[in-house]
Amino acid sequence: MDKLTFKKENSERIQMVENSFGPSGVRLCKPDRILIGEGRLIKQGRKKQQPKAFFLFNDILVYGSIILNGRWHKKQKIIPLEDIMVEDMEDSEGFMHQWLIRTPSKSFFVSAFSADEKQAWLEHIKECQSNLLQDGRRLGSNFAMTWIPDRAAEKCMRCFSKFSATKRRHHCRKCGFLVCNSCSKERVVIHHIHRTKRLRICSLCHTERSRQRGNSAESNSSEEEEEVNVINNEEEEEELQSHTPSNWLDSRMGSWGHNFSPEPMHQ
Ligand SMILES: [Zn+2]
Ligand SMILES: [Zn+2]
Repeated sequence: MDKLTFKKENSERIQMVENSFGPSGVRLCKPDRILIGEGRLIKQGRKKQQPKAFFLFNDILVYGSIILNGRWHKKQKIIPLEDIMVEDMEDSEGFMHQWLIRTPSKSFFVSAFSADEKQAWLEHIKECQSNLLQDGRRLGSNFAMTWIPDRAAEKCMRCFSKFSATKRRHHCRKCGFLVCNSCSKERVVIHHIHRTKRLRICSLCHTERSRQRGNSAESNSSEEEEEVNVINNEEEEEELQSHTPSNWLDSRMGSWGHNFSPEPMHQ
């Protein structure tokens, strides 16, 4: 495929992704940006596992909720590839072909439909990153701790008292542990997560931090933080019946894998 045709097809593909997010998404078309692959991965959220549409570009990873498969997405998230660290994970019960995506503000598990797909995603992400490095970009080094999913702990991971309707779960933003309110009274600024906001941390992290800094002045902000238990504003999404395999750019041919183009709306 000649350069001009590739350029045209590539920008059409990117335009299609951009359009699928509607007006709430940001502009994705940009010179030199290439869409490398797209597919559906299960994202392990705090509350539940949800299929999300993922798009890998040569410089960013974009994902969003699926409203209408392949055509309509929302809640667009964009992560620059230099801010991502991927970590391969073993299969666990009920969660297969998974890996960890670490970013400065958030870390989460995703899982692919098969071991092959997982391998393809990991390799493509790493290849894009190494190309960025050759372009002189630097990979980040501060990554957020992985949040322990709510259902993973019945008891506060610091004082071991049982969670209940009155003893609610909170996440320590530093170590990611699920802790009760009495074990997480302190609030501190964690720069790589948020520049100014004081975030909840657990008693152990606070003790360690105070020891390191030799003071404990930075604590007890009155600022209220949302309770983990009430965050559940995910909207109803289309139930996904069948698996659609991920599509990848064939870098030698410049062509795209099968069934990328959405079917016409009217049939
Ligand atoms: Zn506790
Ligand atoms: Zn902690």
